[in-house]
Amino acid sequence: MKLVCEKNKCAGCMACVDACPAKAVTVRDEVKCFNAVIDESKCLNCNLCHKICQQKNSPVHREPIYWKQGWSNSEETRKTSSSGGFAYELMKTFVGRGGYVCSCRFDKGLFTFYITNKIDELRSFSGSKYVKSNPVGIYKQIKELLKNGQQVLFVGLPCQVASLINFTNNNPNLFTVDLICHGTPSPKVLESFLKSKKIKLNDVEHIAFRTGDGFMVVPDGARLAGGNGQDYYIIPFIDGDSYTENCYSCEHASINRVSDITIGDSWGSKLPDEMKKNGVSLALCQTEKGRKLLEESDVTLYDVDIDAAKASNPQLVGPSKCTGHRDKLLSGVAKCIGYNSIIRRTYTKRYYRSLFRRVCRKIGLK
Ligand SMILES: Cc1cc2nc3c(=O)[nH]c(=O)nc-3n(C[C@H](O)[C@H](O)[C@H](O)COP(=O)(O)OP(=O)(O)OC[C@H]3O[C@@H](n4cnc5c(N)ncnc54)[C@H](O)[C@@H]3O)c2cc1C
Repeated sequence: MKLVCEKNKCAGCMACVDACPAKAVTVRDEVKCFNAVIDESKCLNCNLCHKICQQKNSPVHREPIYWKQGWSNSEETRKTSSSGGFAYELMKTFVGRGGYVCSCRFDKGLFTFYITNKIDELRSFSGSKYVKSNPVGIYKQIKELLKNGQQVLFVGLPCQVASLINFTNNNPNLFTVDLICHGTPSPKVLESFLKSKKIKLNDVEHIAFRTGDGFMVVPDGARLAGGNGQDYYIIPFIDGDSYTENCYSCEHASINRVSDITIGDSWGSKLPDEMKKNGVSLALCQTEKGRKLLEESDVTLYDVDIDAAKASNPQLVGPSKCTGHRDKLLSGVAKCIGYNSIIRRTYTKRYYRSLFRRVCRKIGLK
């Protein structure tokens, strides 16, 4: 089988699918890993897929030149965003300058990408989606806009940003914002979890992974478990067990980045709790054009200690590490075993602790 990049190390960024003029590349989601497979009967040996693959040819990683923490000046934006709302404000400024913005949104069961130059459509991007998103088709559209002299801001995962830079030959009209990223699970893990709750992802209209109460999966406003970090999707996500293979050797999990701006949570913030309670974003700017965009945006900025930020945000230092549970968890999902039963067998103590809490709540003990 001919593959675009090293076996089981595909990030699922889909740029090779967009690059192939013969439609010879298919990306296979095998739950534990993705693989970009080349159909040799169609392949023209043009090597475009290899050239743009960020796994094989990563763009230059640069040190940040400027770093700040802070939040959007709009209370509504801060409320609807996962951290302090930097992503929304950067996009708004960019559209205000006459540019186009591309980012990820949940639409008809899929985590796809969309391009707009309308401010009133930007809210549809808000919120972290703790799952591997699918940018197929978007690389070509962005390249076309750039070719026509438009400026485009892309907000996405670091691997997607890296491939887009390759795909567009580092076009100066492209602006990129990447997220500090723990790692991403195949959407099949989410589907399996939701199935255990008798919910089909395809039937969900809106899904959140973070609320004011913390990390949890909330489809169409329905809370599926107790509190912060307690649902069976979030437990392996936070433990670092549910990601695809490539994430554990991700070279973007570093303080040096490929994007103009990197955003995440300002976990190491020393600001008073009262100021932090509605979310604090962290921004690292690697380029002057990134710095200018941040400074022009409608945000309040505070100094941040970059060493404290690195110490509290391990993915600025290196890739996530999994626990010994990963194999059992993902093999179970790949074999379509019921999700509750996978969790019972894999995270046994936590499964029974959570069951005990649920029973107590039901009989009014808590
Ligand atoms: C999988 C994942 C892992 C993360 N891990 C960390 C971490 O370890 N440490 C940390 O500090 N921050 C992490 N973040 C980033 C954090 O959750 C916030 O998204 C970030 O701080 C931006 O917050 P915000 O309030 O500015 O914007 P938000 O309202 O959160 O908007 C985020 C922007 O990113 C886009 N986006 C969201 N999910 C995806 C996705 N799956 N694929 C592509 N684009 C997406 C949205 O479309 C939107 O444009 C992670 C995010 C994701 C998606």
